[in-house]
Amino acid sequence: QPEEVPELPEGVAAHLRGEGIEELYPPQAAAVEAGVTRGESVVASVPTASGKTLVAELAMLSSVARGGKALYIVPLRALASEKKTEFERWEEYGFDVGVSTGNYESDGEWLASRDIVVATSEKVDSLVRNGAAWIDELTCVVADEVHLVDDSHRGPTLEVTLGKLRTLNPGLQVVALSATVGNADVVAEWLDAELVESDWRPIDLRMGVHYGNAISFDDGSQREVPVESGGRPTAALVDDALDGDGGNTLDGVADAVQDDGVADADEDDGDADATEDDDTIDGDGGGDDKPDDQGSSLVFVNSRRNAEASAKRLRDVTEPHLTDDERGRLAELAAEIRDVSDTDTSDTLASCVAKGAAFHHAGLASEHRSLVEDAFRDRLVKCISATPTLAAGVNTPSRRVIVRDWRRYDGEFGGMKPLDVLEIHQMMGRAGRPGLDPYGEAVLLAKNSETRDELFERYIWADPEPVRSKLAAEPALRTHVLATVASGFAHTREELLEFLDRTLYATQTDDSGRLERVTDDVLAYLERNGFLEREDDSLTATSVGHTVSRLYLDPMTAAEIIDGLEWADANRGEMVRALSGADSADDASARASDPASSAAPARASGDGDPTDAGFQRASELAADERSESDEAVGNGTTADDDAAGEGLGDPTYPTALGLFHLVSRTPDMYQLYLKSGDRETYTEICYEREAELLGRTPSEYEDVRFEEWLSALKTARLLEDWADEVDEDRITERYGVGPGDIRGKVETAEWLLGAAERLAGELDLPVVPVREAKKRVEYGVRDELLTLAGIRGVGRKRARRLYEAGIETRADLREADKSVVLRALRGRRKTAEGILENVGRQDPSMADVAKADSATTDRP
Ligand code: ADP
Repeated sequence: QPEEVPELPEGVAAHLRGEGIEELYPPQAAAVEAGVTRGESVVASVPTASGKTLVAELAMLSSVARGGKALYIVPLRALASEKKTEFERWEEYGFDVGVSTGNYESDGEWLASRDIVVATSEKVDSLVRNGAAWIDELTCVVADEVHLVDDSHRGPTLEVTLGKLRTLNPGLQVVALSATVGNADVVAEWLDAELVESDWRPIDLRMGVHYGNAISFDDGSQREVPVESGGRPTAALVDDALDGDGGNTLDGVADAVQDDGVADADEDDGDADATEDDDTIDGDGGGDDKPDDQGSSLVFVNSRRNAEASAKRLRDVTEPHLTDDERGRLAELAAEIRDVSDTDTSDTLASCVAKGAAFHHAGLASEHRSLVEDAFRDRLVKCISATPTLAAGVNTPSRRVIVRDWRRYDGEFGGMKPLDVLEIHQMMGRAGRPGLDPYGEAVLLAKNSETRDELFERYIWADPEPVRSKLAAEPALRTHVLATVASGFAHTREELLEFLDRTLYATQTDDSGRLERVTDDVLAYLERNGFLEREDDSLTATSVGHTVSRLYLDPMTAAEIIDGLEWADANRGEMVRALSGADSADDASARASDPASSAAPARASGDGDPTDAGFQRASELAADERSESDEAVGNGTTADDDAAGEGLGDPTYPTALGLFHLVSRTPDMYQLYLKSGDRETYTEICYEREAELLGRTPSEYEDVRFEEWLSALKTARLLEDWADEVDEDRITERYGVGPGDIRGKVETAEWLLGAAERLAGELDLPVVPVREAKKRVEYGVRDELLTLAGIRGVGRKRARRLYEAGIETRADLREADKSVVLRALRGRRKTAEGILENVGRQDPSMADVAKADSATTDRP
């Protein structure tokens, strides 16, 4: 019982009891036994949903109660705020909680006053790099989902960060929470921790495979789930879970079940549905061992597109099971979803949710994700079709889990690759809602009996794989070696190797020479690029090296950016000439006739005159007052080509597109893939706008490099569209991405351009064009709106409408006719008042104006 843990602070045990936690789960009791509340390090390797978070809380609360400070490391940014909210219930007992998200390159000083800090491993790494003093005060650090050290992209950061924290705080308690893995003992050895390993689950899990018209479970039982001729097993399984025997749920909520018919076969298709194609089995009626409540389902598929397609089909399955009350609440939720953003994805999601089904993937806006998760937990949404990111993240237990796709396309592998056992088990572990379901069911789908047998062997009877460190990969070491030296963890090659020797990699490897060899390669790379200096035995980071480390850049990204900016500086005259020449040779009339064209709006306003035809002016961003309109730029300035680089007529070079391309080709930006046809399209764009790109375009015969150059160009064009005020909806369509992807790219570009601005400043390269490009991507606007869009409450669309109404600056806003402002803001009084207040207008009230306005518009 919680009361029997003497180390727990006053009130905590009672509080837990109030939450229905009467007894510790066996793995929790084992962790307490192992000393987790007495400051001992523990690795807990237990199944999903068996209460790992409470183990962490017990450790953190008792550590803080002894005068310490705790850090909880999450694997995903989306989880950070969720965990913080969860831990905030301890604030009434005097535990302050803080979450560190947002920008890198800060030491998060305010966090010094918090008892419990939540952050991602990248954030913690950057806090260490920036010398956050409070890091030295940590007494307890929790690593959530520590098995992710196996992830080749993000694992090494967690691994090195834990190493640094332990070096800084020799007595540090480490609590590592892991899914069940094949070698938890090795992880425990690495962290000098006690191992708590268990298969215990709070609710039974039946795992099985559906084939033909029944599920075969691992306990030997079967459940008939017939699939109608031409029907899909997934639909039948979702429907079957929703079918009850009259709605007796375990907690007494009677959800009326209205229809037990299997949904009509869905004839549409066209999406890659590997498992279900022509799966036509005749069945006859359901079995009689149905569960006695209405159960929700989670369907795991292998791509975003499949998630959406699946939800669209399954909404017709969930819809007949809804009560009138639920229909009403779902309609409200659908409206809320549409309010979040005005995109196709939003629309599709809303139309599914209105019928009780939803999809969930990383391309969704985060507001959409949490609306869907909450509605699923509230049992309003009956079925979610999700990509595996859902399994790794938030707590969304479900009556039934259907793993529809157990393979996913893998570019390096060159085809469909089976998922890891660990991953499948994590998805399956989401089955069973304690207190609601008698047991959870997790079902894989098979097309034939051989596949059924294979799935049993591969996933149901199989143990999860061991976790393997990915630290010895060069990109990971590049980053971490520089940071380790820059933040003073190692001053010599020997010290560096000693530090690396305390990693999981070193614990695991038989080939100790390998790490040393890769380390030497990486040191040579860093030295060559001017980030490190070696003298005899000593290693020091150069000034730029320090900056790169603090900016949290992959050194290769920094090298690419520096090269590009230096190249632009060296070739400026030539490129500026090429650009103006290209523009007049170009079909300028086509562009000039359509100033709103998104293809090259910046060049649209004039023809022939190189000062304004080819370039945007480098407007002074700090200038609060008048930003010049296109016409103003055209008038009066007469710089000629050769004067480029001096004086007032200075054209902006590099252009925004050039800079977007530069940051898009770094390893820190996930580039868009080229789809079929894209190669031609972007080859053409590449030659049209070659003079803007910062560096020589690789020859078409350098296949891989050329392809990467084009992918970066596609990404850069997306950013350019965004910065040219193209509608989000258009962008999602044009590039085949979700709104969440646009935001992701925009945020990354903002970060990288901010870093580029810093590097340019440090290396005496032109700063203004970089800053301007960064602002444009940040606000998603053209040059002339930068001032307006920077005002709190305005944003890209309102800025454009204000501008069109003749309001171009803050000063204009302070002086404008209120009715003009109000009309431009579509009659939204509160918004208008807020904006006027933000620019310091004396009397921002719209009361009279609004009345007058509605008096005129309301008249019939
Ligand atoms: P994990 O992190 O292992 O996936 P969670 O920590 O999210 O699992 O726990 C799953 C659910 O179990 C949570 O809703 C939590 O409140 C509940 N829970 C945890 N420990 C207990 C307990 N001892 N008794 C009852 N419920 C518990």
